[in-house]
Amino acid sequence: MHSFTAEQIQQLNEKLSTPQEVLKWALDRFPSTMALASSFGAEDVAIIDMMMKINPKARIFTLDTGRLNQETYDVMDEIRNKYNINIEVMFPDANEVEQMVRVNGMNLFYQSIGNRKLCCGIRKVHPLKKMLLTLDGWITGLRADQTEVRSNAQRIEIDPQHNGIIKVNPIIEWTWQQTLDYIKQNNVPYNKLHDKGYPSIGCEPCTRAIKSGEPLRAGRWWWEMDPQKECGLHAEHGK
Ligand code: SF4
Repeated sequence: MHSFTAEQIQQLNEKLSTPQEVLKWALDRFPSTMALASSFGAEDVAIIDMMMKINPKARIFTLDTGRLNQETYDVMDEIRNKYNINIEVMFPDANEVEQMVRVNGMNLFYQSIGNRKLCCGIRKVHPLKKMLLTLDGWITGLRADQTEVRSNAQRIEIDPQHNGIIKVNPIIEWTWQQTLDYIKQNNVPYNKLHDKGYPSIGCEPCTRAIKSGEPLRAGRWWWEMDPQKECGLHAEHGK
């Protein structure tokens, strides 16, 4: 367990500014107990490229909900092969999924927000929590302009939602365009759904392409009206 105080974290945020500086600090400080949570969207693959240039043994894990797009599995393998790395794939608890679909059906998420959150809880939040219990810190691809609740996040912070471990958001200040530019300039494999109008990619049944002028996350759970939709992985930033 780390022993950083809020004051020390603040000092780090003042001292470390570029994504590479932030990542180097995180990977040097916790070489085996710091890992990137990756959904293999544009932000995550950009971070993976930076991480591999700093420490090729850096850890990457992903949450396979069982409902992802084929394009997402394709980019996972492209990344795996390009950087010659093992990706730690976390699956949901089979008993929880079996019970959920037996009672609520396969496509329960369309029926109510409660059902959607139940599915995100079982397929994403529970496996994430299980992994985070084993770590001193996690790295995310959050960007402040994605949603209002993400706009308060710092580059480095203490995560009260997950036992006070360190949460590292190296590209929190980047724009969508900066993310795409990095990928292009560094020839990083990316999810081909980005070329088909999907800036934000989640599970296949819960994500659609966006139309010109729509917010970048409008395609996530598009049938819900709340503009600040989250799956529960990063829900506490607004508080
Ligand atoms: S995004 Fe949809 S399919 Fe994926 S875990 Fe959440 S509700 Fe379930």
